[in-house]
Amino acid sequence: MRILLTNDDGIHAPGLEVLEAIAARLSDDVWVCAPAEEQSGAGHSLTLHQPVRLREHGHQRFAVTGTPTDAVNLALRKLFADKRPDLVISGINAGENLADDITYSGTISAAMEAALAGIPAIALSQAMRERGASFGAAQGWAEKVLRPLIDTPMARRTLINVNFPDLASDAVKGIRVVRQGFHDYKRGSLVEGTDPRGRKYYWFGLEEMEHTLDHGTDLEAVADGYVAVTPLQLDLTNHAAIGALAEGFAS
Ligand code: MN
Repeated sequence: MRILLTNDDGIHAPGLEVLEAIAARLSDDVWVCAPAEEQSGAGHSLTLHQPVRLREHGHQRFAVTGTPTDAVNLALRKLFADKRPDLVISGINAGENLADDITYSGTISAAMEAALAGIPAIALSQAMRERGASFGAAQGWAEKVLRPLIDTPMARRTLINVNFPDLASDAVKGIRVVRQGFHDYKRGSLVEGTDPRGRKYYWFGLEEMEHTLDHGTDLEAVADGYVAVTPLQLDLTNHAAIGALAEGFAS
């Protein structure tokens, strides 16, 4: 089984190192193609206005001077012209990717890019209160989540979003398959300042967000100490709204 690993925290991120160790237990044909620099919050963006470069960082390890989507795209077109990967795993992100935050996430978007290409894709994120905290839950539970996911046929154009709670591995209660939740819309802090040339700037800060712990959501599962597993699809259509909207145009 050929596995491609990527992320949005960059080729030197500790979470990628953790993922490489886990992937080595699943396959002897593991490749890495990740952004050269951190791309958290890059979402599904694609670099169009400048070239990107592919740099070799060891055996079957590459960095791309672009976004997570660039990394997957370039890997599929350039590295795997002969034999495509059977699975793409993105992560392990330093920080959770839950609820509607997933649309900002480069970690999730890398998996989306693979799903669009018809390749089974899994995004892994470790909830952590502060940067540099432990990947303990992911280290203890990733293989238990990944093996059944690999053995289960994945629906087309579907990716799996996995979030590990911010707990020691032996404190994690289990695995729950849940739906995506929604945050209340509070986008953390906005810092205002003045740059050295006297111009005002604004800087978005991330803070603990308020959210509604609806039953059966990824938010609730992680808050309860479980690994949250959520199948995501790329069809964003609100199917239930189609009828009413069409009626508004019928005359
Ligand atoms: Mn990240």
